[in-house]
Amino acid sequence: MDAIETLNAAGLNATLDFLGEDVRERDEALRVRDEYFRLLEAIRSRGVRSNVSLKVTAMGLLASEEFAAENVAAIAVEAQKNADPFVRIDMEGSAVVAATLGIFERVRAAHTNVGPVLQAYLKRTPADLEQMLALGARVRLCKGAYGESAEVAHTSMPVIRSAYLRMAEALLSRGNYPAIATHDGRIIEAVKAYVAERAIARDAFEFQMLYGVRPELQRRLVSDGFRVRIYVPYGTHWAGYFYRRIMERRENALFALGSLVRK
Ligand SMILES: Cc1cc2nc3c(=O)[nH]c(=O)nc-3n(C[C@H](O)[C@H](O)[C@H](O)COP(=O)(O)OP(=O)(O)OC[C@H]3O[C@@H](n4cnc5c(N)ncnc54)[C@H](O)[C@@H]3O)c2cc1C
Repeated sequence: MDAIETLNAAGLNATLDFLGEDVRERDEALRVRDEYFRLLEAIRSRGVRSNVSLKVTAMGLLASEEFAAENVAAIAVEAQKNADPFVRIDMEGSAVVAATLGIFERVRAAHTNVGPVLQAYLKRTPADLEQMLALGARVRLCKGAYGESAEVAHTSMPVIRSAYLRMAEALLSRGNYPAIATHDGRIIEAVKAYVAERAIARDAFEFQMLYGVRPELQRRLVSDGFRVRIYVPYGTHWAGYFYRRIMERRENALFALGSLVRK
């Protein structure tokens, strides 16, 4: 909560994620759900500008899709007490993409304050994007962080970047308050040029970045009048998240170690 207050004071909004994934026991998934209830209460009582992000495999997807959907729905209901009631459903590995979108659609039929994530590296995503645009879903677009095979995912960065940009443009011109989640300066500049050309309002979308990554760029975008939301993960189950960050960029390991030493 202290970290979120500091971000808010710099004009940055947040989304909080309780770290954890691939939960197999129902009791454990219920504990994760209850942690989100406490988290939503803490956001309310501290009055910080933050919503929440969650993973369906932490909600019990591996036990049952129905059970995970019930847990996500319970969090969506609880979040409606908050000033920012939005609940983001993170996207995980390709094996659970269809189930994750299925859970999103099921929960959204009753609670509109939920939104999915689409990964530009997946070959299936252009079709998913059209479906999400037709639904009016509030989408976060990212490149994708899981080690995927060439059968299901693009593996070359220029191809991923151009797929990302095509989909970002579709979301910016036809979507519902999209989130452009990236630290990639080339994509950010292209998005800025696109919205300027089309006169798309700066409050019609937001940039999103990870806590601690390119903080000077985060603040520069805010001072240029863009909305920026920072993804802030917390908790003890940090290994999966940490591993994905290191696979993206070796310097992230040094950054994390430096933060530990400073503590
Ligand atoms: C808010 C948010 C939410 C996300 N949610 C999901 C999700 O639900 N599912 C999922 O699969 N993935 C998610 N991701 C991760 C995402 O898919 C990518 O793996 C991750 O963001 C890295 O890709 P990138 O576009 O940021 O740039 P990269 O490809 O990592 O980097 C591109 C360029 O950005 C610059 N850069 C990057 N990092 C730094 C740095 N530390 N310092 C200086 N320059 C830097 C460099 O110029 C680099 O060449 C999320 C990412 C964000 C930001």
